[in-house]
Amino acid sequence: MNRLLRRSGPALQRLCGRHYSAPAAAAIPTPSAQPEVHFNKLFINNEWQDAASGRTFPTINPSTGEVICQVAEADQADVNRAVKAARDAFRFGSPWRRMDASHRGLLLNKLANAIESNAAYLAELETLDNGKPYAISYSVDLPNVVKCLRYYAGWADKWEGKTIPIDGDFFCYTRHEPVGVCGQIIPWNFPLLMQAWKLGPALATGNTVVMKVAEQTPLTALFVANLIKEVGFPEGVVNILPGLGPSAGAAISRHMDVDKVAFTGSTEVGHLIQQASGSSNLKRVTLELGGKSPNIVMADADMAYAVEQSHFALFFNQGQCCCAGSRTYVQADIYDEFVERSAARAKRRVVGDPFDLRTEQGPQVDQEQFNKILGYISTGKKEGARLMCGGGVAADRGYFIQPTVFGDVQDNMTIAREEIFGPVMQILKFKTVEEVIERANDSQYGLAAAVFTKDLDKAHYVSNGLRAGTVWINCYDVFGAQAPFGGYKASGNGRELGEYGLEGYTEVKTVTIKVPQKNS
Ligand code: NAP
Ligand code: MG
Repeated sequence: MNRLLRRSGPALQRLCGRHYSAPAAAAIPTPSAQPEVHFNKLFINNEWQDAASGRTFPTINPSTGEVICQVAEADQADVNRAVKAARDAFRFGSPWRRMDASHRGLLLNKLANAIESNAAYLAELETLDNGKPYAISYSVDLPNVVKCLRYYAGWADKWEGKTIPIDGDFFCYTRHEPVGVCGQIIPWNFPLLMQAWKLGPALATGNTVVMKVAEQTPLTALFVANLIKEVGFPEGVVNILPGLGPSAGAAISRHMDVDKVAFTGSTEVGHLIQQASGSSNLKRVTLELGGKSPNIVMADADMAYAVEQSHFALFFNQGQCCCAGSRTYVQADIYDEFVERSAARAKRRVVGDPFDLRTEQGPQVDQEQFNKILGYISTGKKEGARLMCGGGVAADRGYFIQPTVFGDVQDNMTIAREEIFGPVMQILKFKTVEEVIERANDSQYGLAAAVFTKDLDKAHYVSNGLRAGTVWINCYDVFGAQAPFGGYKASGNGRELGEYGLEGYTEVKTVTIKVPQKNS
């Protein structure tokens, strides 16, 4: 117990935006800032293998810029090996294909339990490799990983087809069958959570998987790979490849023997994935891409609450969220006060060592993102937005950026149109409800949106008018494994999570049987 630091409910809620299912008074174990790395190779056919080329790449600690370790670098030859293993595991009559659906659910539950047992270690490794505060890794990411896997474990034997009353003397029914070998390409902002969002529905429905993890954050996924083997998934069902996008990622997306690709990342790469499908075997494609999500604050909203929630909407996870509320539209009557209070809140944000349990904001994930964000800040200044606070580097090493707030942002400015993916808030002014709906929708993206108001009629009206896959009313970033998530427009296609999330991993087979009639 002396290794446990008790955070009071309110302090943890401040870090987590109040809406994550963090326990009221959570005990967070004191972390080690130097967790041991146990796995750094390719995981193919339940074995650890070097890359065929023998190549490795470094994974970096973003708090220091130092190399944590070398990791095997998969390319085309390794993707071919992994796809073959996944294809063999998917063979009709294989142990995986013959396994009872309830047993698939049991394996997913065992995996969830194994991750839960290793939660403190996995949270340390996630923080080391990604830079997110340990308090968040431990009390937000890990519990949601476990919940996601348990949720989909429950679906394994409940994803039912239909019987259909077609005309004539026939019995017609549908079977929900797995799509086959699924390529899954995931990003670095929520490495463990994205892994769970992808594995849960794919495995519950009986698919096999070749997953490429992000080059910035390969370590936790490899530890989970070992747990996948330990809990008893048959060989070849899950294969995990660290590697680079243009080689390993592209090899998956154009592979002729991959039946589906699920991708989360930038819209730019989303286009490439869809093209690769079109020019190879028309594999199914689901995409979770970028956003520039409008967060609308009406004049009647509770000011203190809306300021805090809008701060959380943008700054959570170092601003590295696809659904970040990165266009904060505030009604004219309260605009000046809102901007002042948002800047004051951003100045109070605690930036620093992510292993310090008081830290709200760690480093950006890598040098490239760090440079890109600083570039956007300088563009914002040049284009005439009013810098209210921040705007610079926050430490003399690592990739730390000051929480930054821009006021007087106009719709046509680059910082109001492009995804910054960093701790940079844009606050825009609006007058009427009709106007803000139109401006909010004037974006290539449509991932998420929010509205803060005490008037529920207004909230529903605005929500109906917004073209976004998720709308939060008087809250932000509220996720549950039970509720679907995904984008309109260039924010992607398909949905993850919930029952809807199963559809992307399912082929529907129609079976029709002649039923001879008596005396005919
Ligand atoms: P990204 O390139 O889209 O990376 C996402 C994943 O796709 C990574 O695993 C990446 O591999 C892989 N990839 C890259 N090029 C590929 C290709 N040609 N074919 C197949 N896979 C490929 O994103 P990023 O460069 O890390 O970040 C750039 C921007 O993307 C961010 O600033 C942000 O705007 C957006 N982003 C969005 C999300 C999201 O949750 N929607 C997450 C991360 C980033 P590597 O690991 O080698 O890059
Ligand atoms: Mg790293």
